[in-house]
Amino acid sequence: MSLKLTRSTHLFEQARKILPGGVNSPVRSFSAVGGQAFVATRGQGPYLYDADGNKYIDLVCSWGPLIHGHNHPIIRMAIEKALQNGTSFGVNSEIEIQLGQKLVDSIPSLEMLRLVNSGTEACMSAIRLARAATKREYIIKFEGHYHGHADSFLVAAGSGLASFGMSSSAGVPEKISAETLILPFNNVAALEECFSKYGNQIAGVILEVVTGNMGVVAPDLSFLKKLRELSKQYSSVLIFDEVMTGFRLSLSGAQGLYGIEPDLSCFGKIIGGGLPVGAYGGKKEIMQLVSPLGPMYQAGTLSGNPLCAAAGLASLELILEDSKIFYQRLDAGASEWRSLMEAHITRHSYPVSVAQMGSMLTIFFSPEKPKNYVEARTCDLEKFKSFFWKMLERGIYYPPSQFEACFLSTAHKPEIMERLAEVSLQAMDECFEMKL
Ligand SMILES: *Cc1c(COP(=O)(O)O)cnc(C)c1O
Repeated sequence: MSLKLTRSTHLFEQARKILPGGVNSPVRSFSAVGGQAFVATRGQGPYLYDADGNKYIDLVCSWGPLIHGHNHPIIRMAIEKALQNGTSFGVNSEIEIQLGQKLVDSIPSLEMLRLVNSGTEACMSAIRLARAATKREYIIKFEGHYHGHADSFLVAAGSGLASFGMSSSAGVPEKISAETLILPFNNVAALEECFSKYGNQIAGVILEVVTGNMGVVAPDLSFLKKLRELSKQYSSVLIFDEVMTGFRLSLSGAQGLYGIEPDLSCFGKIIGGGLPVGAYGGKKEIMQLVSPLGPMYQAGTLSGNPLCAAAGLASLELILEDSKIFYQRLDAGASEWRSLMEAHITRHSYPVSVAQMGSMLTIFFSPEKPKNYVEARTCDLEKFKSFFWKMLERGIYYPPSQFEACFLSTAHKPEIMERLAEVSLQAMDECFEMKL
C-alpha cells in the first residue's frame, strides 16, 4: 500500500525554495517521521483533504484548536458575520470584550486578562509579568514542556537534578537561557531542592499542568500541591500554561480538573476557534501591573482582532451550550479507543502504552507511560515511524512525532472512532510482525 502524493511533492518542492524546510512551522515538514508531508486543501468535520485528493481522519486538528472539528458551520458563520464589518479596527470592539468576559466567567482564577495573537506571546508576556511583579529574574521550567518559542523557553537541561538552562536553539544568548532553571517534571525532590537554593530569586514557575508537548503526561497531584505550596511560600508567581488544555480538559482547564489555582494562566488554541489568538490573565492585583495601568509593557497591533474574537466566542458558546454533556461525549470516544488498544496491547504483550487525558491521547512506544521527559525519550522511535506511516496509508493522520498528542473533536463521532480503533490495532500488529 502506498499513498499518492504527486501534487503535494510538487508543491513542497516550490515551498522549499521560499520557506525554510518548505514550512512555516517545523513539525509540518514531517522531519520526525521522514518522508513526504502532504499539503492540505480543505478540512471538513473529522477529515482533512490533500492536494492529491486523499482524505484523512485528522487526529491533529490543527494541534488542538479545532475541538469542534474542521469548518464547523456555526464558527464559520460567526466569522462571516464579523467580516461584514471589516477585519481590524485598531480600537476596542464589542466582540473582544465579550470573549474576554466569557473567559473570566469560565475560569475562577481569572479576574483580568489581556488578549494577544498566539500562545507564544501569552507565555512570553506571563513570565515578563512574573518578573515585573516580583522584581526577580529566575524562571523555573520543566523539561519537555513547551511554552512557545520566546528565548527564555528555548532552553534544555544541563546536568544535575535542577540545572541552569542551556539554550536549545541557536540565537538564544546564554545570558538569557541561564535565567531559566530546568527541572524534571513530577519530581518533588528536585523542586524542593531548587526552591531551597534559589527560592528568593525565583520570579515564576511555568508548566503544562497536563503535558501535551512530550506526548500526554499527567501530573501527580502531590507534585502540583507541592508546587502551589512552595511558590506561595517563596512568593513566586505560579503560571499554568493552559494554551493546549484550556477548554480542552474542562471548562476551567487543567486547573479546574485538579482544583489548584495558579497566579497567572495562559490560553490560546481553542479560544481562537481556529484563528490566531492567545491570552494571559490572573487576579486584578497582578494584572494591574500591565500597561497602561502599570509599568509592564505589552501591546499588539492586531490583538483582540474581531474575526479571531468572533471565532473564539462561537467556539466557546458551542461548548457552553451544555458543557457537562459536551465533555462527557468528547472524552468517551478517546477513553473507549484507549481501552480497546490497551486490551490489544496486553493480549499481544506489545511494548506500548497509551496515555489519555480527556480528548488528548498519545500512543507511546514504550512499555510504561512516561512520567517525565527522560522517560519519554526512551520510546522506540523507529517503531513509531512505521506506525505513523501505516496509519497515514490507511487514511488516518496521526501526529507526525512520538512526542505529540492526538486531539479529538466532537466531529470524531462513534463510527469514526470505530474505524480509528480498527486501523490502529492493525497498524500496531504490522509494526510488531515486522522483523526490524
Ligand atoms: C501550542 C502551545 C504554545 C504556543 O502557542 P502558539 O500559538 O503556537 O504560539 C504554548 N504552550 C503550549 C502548552 C502549547 O501547546
